[in-house]
Amino acid sequence: MLLNKVNYDKKIKYHNMQKEPKKQLLIFKWITKIFSDISIKKRLRLEKINMEGVKAPYFIISNHMGFVDLEVNALATYPARVSHIATLEGHYRRSLLMELDGCIGKRKFTTDPHLITACEKILNKFGSVLTMYPEARYSPIGTTAILPDSLGQLIKRLKHDVVVLVHHGNYLFSPFWDWRRKRDVPLYTTMTRVLTKADIEEKTPEEIQKTVTDALQYDEYKYQKDNGIRITEPYRAEGLHKVLYQCPICNTEYEMYTEGAILGCSHCGHKWELTELGELRALDGETVFSHPPTWYEWQRANVRKEIEEGRYSFNDEVDVYSLPNTKNFIELGKARLTHSMETGFVIEGHYNGEDYKISRPVAGMYGVHIEYDYCYIRSEECIQISTMDDTFICYPSEKNRVTKLSIATEELYKVKQEEKKAKREARLAKKAEKQE
Ligand SMILES: [Zn+2]
Repeated sequence: MLLNKVNYDKKIKYHNMQKEPKKQLLIFKWITKIFSDISIKKRLRLEKINMEGVKAPYFIISNHMGFVDLEVNALATYPARVSHIATLEGHYRRSLLMELDGCIGKRKFTTDPHLITACEKILNKFGSVLTMYPEARYSPIGTTAILPDSLGQLIKRLKHDVVVLVHHGNYLFSPFWDWRRKRDVPLYTTMTRVLTKADIEEKTPEEIQKTVTDALQYDEYKYQKDNGIRITEPYRAEGLHKVLYQCPICNTEYEMYTEGAILGCSHCGHKWELTELGELRALDGETVFSHPPTWYEWQRANVRKEIEEGRYSFNDEVDVYSLPNTKNFIELGKARLTHSMETGFVIEGHYNGEDYKISRPVAGMYGVHIEYDYCYIRSEECIQISTMDDTFICYPSEKNRVTKLSIATEELYKVKQEEKKAKREARLAKKAEKQE
């Protein structure tokens, strides 16, 4: 049995993650500027705050709601050159283009020491703007996702001004769960320098982490309501059941559906309308949650409870595809995917005459990448589990499962961190007692 490796044909080479970054070619800067001017400039309002005198190089931390974020970034940073820390899956079949555009490829939710050196080169040698999306995937419900707790340390190490880009409207314009159809929504982005070099020198990594985390908070449904933005598209709720997978009336999971502007539970028959202002309203009886992110957080609390009571586990047969390099997805066939507190994610399968086991323990993953409509392989929902060398794209056999897997990954990680912290404190207390 191979551990964290698959018995590939010798011809298949792994992508070189140690590759040196390239400076963004000016032609790419211009192309993205022209493209973004045409596609979004009319609907975009960009507000710069505390940005006087800020010139490249600097470090942008941005929220992430869709591809449109990259277009806004191109307009906000013009004429400076920009390098994005991008997922390696984004390099699929266009690796050279991505490199010439200055991007650095990273496997999601892995710790890559080489990345820091690459970031330093972009800022110090190229003098470019470095952009990072610490949520590491698109927001499922239009609110801030869990951030890596190493962000403060990274900023401290890089020693450059930190600018936070917060996009509003991008999720409403193109929600992750129905990204192909756009809604007619204005875009508003704030570009704020939140830390100067002097601040970074002075503050601790924890203080820096807090400043950035606070600055990155957003809630698209609140923004929609506060600004009276009407989404009149008749299909506006279609796909929302993938994210709001549990019914708050009968508590049944995975039996929600959407049709037009209606979200419903096929188990108990309860129905809600997603209003033009982004609120849920029961057609008959109790609404329970009118604010979609509050519904989502209720699901999170339920997952947390399952974990604490030792009831949480996931076990399914999945179709697996891997991406050892950026050229082709390799079909690995059927495998067993399990997820639990004890072992984290485990994929067990058989390929090319040999069994393999891919293991990602809970403590190493603060989140996981999911997709609701992954166009590169099969337009269905999937979960992507990465190791340092490879990415495994798993399609569950049962529908509407991936949102809960994503929430469970985050909650398992938090529980693990809390346990570690409690142990550390108990050790320190014991030590202090001895010294007395
Ligand atoms: Zn129900």
